[in-house]
Amino acid sequence: EEEKHKYVKGKKLGEGTYANVYLGHLRSSASSFVAIKKIKVQAAYTEGLAPDAIRELKHLQELSHPNIISLLSVFSSKDQNLNLVLEFLPLGDLEMLIKDTEGVRYGAADIKAWMGMLSRGIWFCHENFVLHRDIKPNNLLIAADGEVKLADFGLARSFSDPYRIMTSNVITRWYRPPELLFGAKHYSGAVDIWSVGLVFAELVIRTPYIAGDTEVGQVGLICQAVGTPTEGNWPGVSKLPEYTVPDPPTPVRQKDHYLGTFGTAGHEGVDLLMKMLVLDPRNRITAKEVLEHDWWRSEPKPTRNEELPRKG
Ligand code: ADP
Repeated sequence: EEEKHKYVKGKKLGEGTYANVYLGHLRSSASSFVAIKKIKVQAAYTEGLAPDAIRELKHLQELSHPNIISLLSVFSSKDQNLNLVLEFLPLGDLEMLIKDTEGVRYGAADIKAWMGMLSRGIWFCHENFVLHRDIKPNNLLIAADGEVKLADFGLARSFSDPYRIMTSNVITRWYRPPELLFGAKHYSGAVDIWSVGLVFAELVIRTPYIAGDTEVGQVGLICQAVGTPTEGNWPGVSKLPEYTVPDPPTPVRQKDHYLGTFGTAGHEGVDLLMKMLVLDPRNRITAKEVLEHDWWRSEPKPTRNEELPRKG
């Protein structure tokens, strides 16, 4: 009851595409920090949306796992904005580490540790029938103990439509799988696995691997990097609503191609990456199969959390 009175809002921590984030603490304890994320939903969209969104978010509160950000509370304020009270994660996100090529050095063992945490988080969500749909390095936040946590889980789903109308040209498409780019209406956990594969690729090369500046451009770059989706490698693809690919088609890339770019991940690492970037979502590796892959058992062993690199 009266969730909003349990927390005290403090200084602004940051501003996102569709939210302002504030530091907060429990009214009953000045040292129990939280992050309060105030979603900017225009009044017009708020009508009818807020109750639904709150209901959906409420069940996300039940998702409890070390690699998923804890949603401690949800309430709407008098301005009709939606407030999410989240676990406070002060060490930034994976994008900051990837981009800081001057200040942060990391290697194959660190990548394996971060990928392990990401994969376990995704596996747990999929086990619980929750899709993320917006996995990218900037949504992978880092806790004080080095644990990587998936953030914004389920938000992409609750807010997809109003979000798209308001900000369609600022949302990054770089991690979006081909089935969504082709307008598929039915999709599965495979959408998240594609994004996880692109995060893996980016951790290795320290720059986004497939960075199109339009949806058409993104499809073109996927065809170059991975291969062109065709009826041969993906039966039914040409029936998807927005299917269009450049001519002539590029054959699906083979292991030697990936080894040239991602060789530092090792043979097992490259094998796993290729299985995440399979074009036909039905043949893409599942989160459960990711966790069973031989890469985790091959050398080097993942770095322990306390030894992982941090932002400077
Ligand atoms: P973005 O559009 O970058 O995803 P968000 O709305 O998620 O932005 O967050 C904006 C900023 O607020 C982030 O860059 C980060 O600095 C901060 N932030 C978000 N969530 C948390 C959190 N749980 N703990 C600490 N800081 C956070």
